[in-house]
Amino acid sequence: MRSNPAQSKPCARCHEADRQPGQSYCRPCASEYQRLWQQKQVLTPEQLQKKNARRAAADRKSRGKLVPPERCERCGEPGDLQMHHEDYSKPLEVVWLHLACHRALHRERGDVMA
Ligand SMILES: [Zn+2]
Ligand SMILES: [Zn+2]
Ligand SMILES: [Zn+2]
Repeated sequence: MRSNPAQSKPCARCHEADRQPGQSYCRPCASEYQRLWQQKQVLTPEQLQKKNARRAAADRKSRGKLVPPERCERCGEPGDLQMHHEDYSKPLEVVWLHLACHRALHRERGDVMA
């Protein structure tokens, strides 16, 4: 028997192992929970569409079917450009931007970089 009652609560998931300090689950349950949660996130239709769009564009690019322009479509300067999707239902319609310009574009819109 444990003497400290604060530490004797079992995991809320398996009800066997001790909880991690400050959490409801034991360590294996916490990582399992995290894994399932991430899996679920990836499988939302929106996430899936984004993923597929990026994959399709990257695939075309690697086969030389999508060629980056000389210059960034935002600032007009040359440099390393990356693909941005305006519409994920059109995976091959991409805008080419610098990393910084790409970040700025999403920041202005208040959404996360995608
Ligand atoms: Zn557990
Ligand atoms: Zn730029
Ligand atoms: Zn983007």
